[in-house]
Amino acid sequence: MASKKMLDELNNQIQEEIFSSYLYLSMATCFADKNLNGCAQWMTMQSQEEYAHAMKFYQYVLDIGGRVELQAIQKPEFEWPTALSMFEGALEHEKHVTGRINLLVDIAVEEKDHATNNFLAFFVGEQVEEEAAASEIVESFKMVGENTQGIYMLDKELGARQA
Ligand code: MG
Repeated sequence: MASKKMLDELNNQIQEEIFSSYLYLSMATCFADKNLNGCAQWMTMQSQEEYAHAMKFYQYVLDIGGRVELQAIQKPEFEWPTALSMFEGALEHEKHVTGRINLLVDIAVEEKDHATNNFLAFFVGEQVEEEAAASEIVESFKMVGENTQGIYMLDKELGARQA
């Protein structure tokens, strides 16, 4: 059984992951509003992935006999000026989430909670991928700049995301 401190932070992480899902869904609507439907599709899928992360934490808390206590979800940002600013926002947010995962791992290690540490290993790897993906897209949008043809091509490419 995990400690109270560990359980509290696992519960908080459910909120963090659902907020991520909410934030990316908000970005999806902003992309749709800009007629960047490929980006909107990418963000919708990202939103679903974040919800799945939340449910992994949810299930883990149940599996170790804990009680899930859902927290309030704040309103995400609504408007972003450009595609680049949205993906920069996503990258910054993923860095924040990486910090959260590292904090959870620190607690698990400190408390010699091997089961939770093992559970968190997936998320340690996942955060490396999330930051790399967002960073690559940020660089691509920086490269095309204001070039509408370039933005059009990138939007098509991002819309091809399968999972
Ligand atoms: Mg996540």
